[in-house]
Amino acid sequence: MLNITFRWQLSQIPERTVKKHCKMCGKLSVFTDTNVRRHNSNGKNIYQYAIYKCEKNHTWNKKLAIYKTFSEHVVEVEEQKEETSILSTIPIISLVEQGIKVIHIVLDDVIGKRRIDKVLAIQIEDWSRSQIIKKIEKGTIQLNDQIIKPSAKLSKGERISIFID
Ligand SMILES: [Zn+2]
Repeated sequence: MLNITFRWQLSQIPERTVKKHCKMCGKLSVFTDTNVRRHNSNGKNIYQYAIYKCEKNHTWNKKLAIYKTFSEHVVEVEEQKEETSILSTIPIISLVEQGIKVIHIVLDDVIGKRRIDKVLAIQIEDWSRSQIIKKIEKGTIQLNDQIIKPSAKLSKGERISIFID
């Protein structure tokens, strides 16, 4: 049986949506994480941002982390805007087309309380959260080879298994 293993570090994924006042809209809006990360430097510090967008596509840069720069080469990135996605999403449909039957996800790190259904809904764009909940309840998505509830929390060292039916 063909299977594939991903390794995740769930340390830096912010919530997918945040309710926040949008200056441009002039009202409370729902901002969604675009999964794009940007690093800016002012020479002393590197700032890491998550790019969020409201329903009208206005941008909000959520500050995630500040790193102290410690060497000269970092100054060179000052004008550079680097965009990276911290965690790659799992392309279920294309994996299935390649004949993959089981997808394992090893959790190398988990910081904070992460529900399995929410994490998978963010990282698997091909499946909706309600589809994911059904699969967890059916047992085709398991945690440590056990059937769990959609609200189960993830911990470091655990393994999620997705069985393609
Ligand atoms: Zn807006």
